[in-house]
Amino acid sequence: MSLVVQKYGGSSLSDADSIKRVARRIVDTRKAGNRVCVVVSAMGDTTDELLDLADAVSPAPPERELDMLLTAGERMSMALVSMAIANLGDSARSYTGSQAGVITDDSHGKARIIDVTPGRIQAALDKGHIVIVAGFQGVSQNTKEITTLGRGGSDTTAVALAAALKADVCEIYTDVDGIFTADPRIVPTARKIDRITNEEMQEMAASGAKVLMLRCVEYARRFNLPIHVRSSFSHREGTWVLDPTEGETVEAPIIAGVAHDRSEAKLTVVGVKDSPGQAAEIFNAVAAAEINIDMIVQNVSAADTGKTDVSFTLPKSDGQTAVKKLKALKEKLGYDHLQYDDQVGKLSLIGSGMRSHPGVSATLFQALADAGINIEMISSSEIRVSVVTRDDQLDDAVRAVHTAFGLDSSDGEAVVYGGSGR
Ligand code: ADP
Ligand code: ASP
Ligand code: MG
Repeated sequence: MSLVVQKYGGSSLSDADSIKRVARRIVDTRKAGNRVCVVVSAMGDTTDELLDLADAVSPAPPERELDMLLTAGERMSMALVSMAIANLGDSARSYTGSQAGVITDDSHGKARIIDVTPGRIQAALDKGHIVIVAGFQGVSQNTKEITTLGRGGSDTTAVALAAALKADVCEIYTDVDGIFTADPRIVPTARKIDRITNEEMQEMAASGAKVLMLRCVEYARRFNLPIHVRSSFSHREGTWVLDPTEGETVEAPIIAGVAHDRSEAKLTVVGVKDSPGQAAEIFNAVAAAEINIDMIVQNVSAADTGKTDVSFTLPKSDGQTAVKKLKALKEKLGYDHLQYDDQVGKLSLIGSGMRSHPGVSATLFQALADAGINIEMISSSEIRVSVVTRDDQLDDAVRAVHTAFGLDSSDGEAVVYGGSGR
């Protein structure tokens, strides 16, 4: 008997009818002779709504309480899915992350899973129950407090449980038919990818393709666990995230896909002295606030002043903290002023074939030039080129680049079955 771990995202659980539909699907999987462990997200946009509610009560809610609030979303789903399964005559038991043995570090809002001790889950499966686990949450090993894993964290719960239970497969059910060459909400001609390597998916997720959370892909890679991303609204085969096994040759396309990200802002320190130690001071201050920066650009210094500008991108959610930290350094560093810009977007082109194919960046820049889109920053890794553009030009940029690399599908438009894309 196979053990299947399935994860249903919020877009698949938006109302009572969708919960009943998902319950039917879970029962069918069980009836096909599998043992089934299901991870659920909060219904629809519940997490965003809870965040808005917290913001309305307090502009800076204590992080412990925020985690208590947000985990309630997944608890609602787990109980409702369990009830719907019982109504179909099967037996299900729901468990919070803590009850399921998801042990994390103590960092609220972005906790890392450090261990999974699924004793209760295993026992419930052994008794023949379908198990439903609340995603996105765990309990801190040190503080014993309830933690959340960061946005999209139910994906990581699913992979971590699948690894701990030694499941045969981890299925991530969402509102599109799999992983596409670009977000189908922006590029209707995006093509479904049948199989993508873990390395490429990791770059896609890190570059903003929220179809899978980055940490879930990293976790799956570490445990060598294949993920099958598919739609809960159709029975089509989805996308396998899977590295080639030894000796297997998979013909990889040069470009896997185009990702976009609107979650970052650009901060420029204008008029920095061009002397050793300035960049270290700036980035030490930002690092001390535990802010992850992404791209960095330093201009050549102006001949008459000997001063330069340093720009970097960072999560919008950390923008005000970074501004405050750097303002405190103004006198010490003697820079002119700060420019904070949250109207930017990032486009990334990803593909492991880039390693051996010259000219990829040139084609990318030409496509953007032809579409009249200005590039504000550039960065690249071995298998990725990223550019920052104006936010309101980002969608056009993604479509132009998708077409320029011949990624458009010729057989019909990609289907988005649900979700608000929020
Ligand atoms: P869930 O609620 O199931 O977790 P998410 O909204 O987190 O769903 O992720 C699914 C969404 O990811 C899709 O609706 C799509 O808009 C978006 N997305 C972004 N990039 C891609 C991509 N390359 N392929 C498929 N979906 C993508
Ligand atoms: N509900 C959480 C979120 O919206 C976790 C998840 O959906 O995976 O981010
Ligand atoms: Mg998600």
